Amino acid sequence: MSRQMIVGNWKMNGTCQAAQALVAGLVGRLPQDSAEVVICPPFTQLASVADQLVGSFIGLGAQDCHQAASGAYTGDISAPMLADLGVSHVILGHSERRQGHAELDETVREKAVAAIHAGLTPIICVGETAEQRDANQHEDVLGWQIEGSLPAGFSGVLAYEPIWAIGAGRAATEEQIAQTMAFLRAELLRQFGEAGKAVKILYGGSVNAGNAPSILSIPEVAGALVGGASLDADAFLSIVGAAS
Ligand code: 13P
Repeated sequence: MSRQMIVGNWKMNGTCQAAQALVAGLVGRLPQDSAEVVICPPFTQLASVADQLVGSFIGLGAQDCHQAASGAYTGDISAPMLADLGVSHVILGHSERRQGHAELDETVREKAVAAIHAGLTPIICVGETAEQRDANQHEDVLGWQIEGSLPAGFSGVLAYEPIWAIGAGRAATEEQIAQTMAFLRAELLRQFGEAGKAVKILYGGSVNAGNAPSILSIPEVAGALVGGASLDADAFLSIVGAAS
């Protein structure tokens, strides 16, 4: 099995100075054979963090990109602009963007196509609401999100983030994660055939140093997408240490 992947989504937090301190607490403390690590600071911190990561084993990701390469899109950032900074990954379709910016599956798919074209690896997020899980509609919702958000032949990273577990302080149970991971893999194979085997599936939602060992040992979990705990170097390094 390939190495697991731990992605830190810093969301809209920090200053450049705080980012420098956080990265200083990570660089040099990762063993060479550690899990694959990617950190995703806000746009404003990407350039300085990119400089700081030169020569390290840590990859750099962004939290969104526009679907067009350039043009009259005030306030947006394109995939080629990210690649130009040394960014290698981009989170797309996070529930906070789907909900807060009315992003549709189709937009997420267009952004993924643009990211791949620019040489970036998309980390596409899917996840159901609490109401959808309670109504036992989560598999339908996830199936539609995969169908709508992933480009044909997608071989990047899929992150399963149940919305009700994000920032909740309580992750989904091991049983819920295991069942949903198995469903997602089956759905990828059904929709994309052989290509669906190559997609890595991460779990995200209240992953912390305490629950990471059990979550990361669930079959099909290829890693974790970590929010709050990625803002603390020691907690994030513990999660990385729990990965294989
Ligand atoms: P928390 O780890 O803070 O729950 O956030 C998860 C998340 O949204 C990562 O993208």
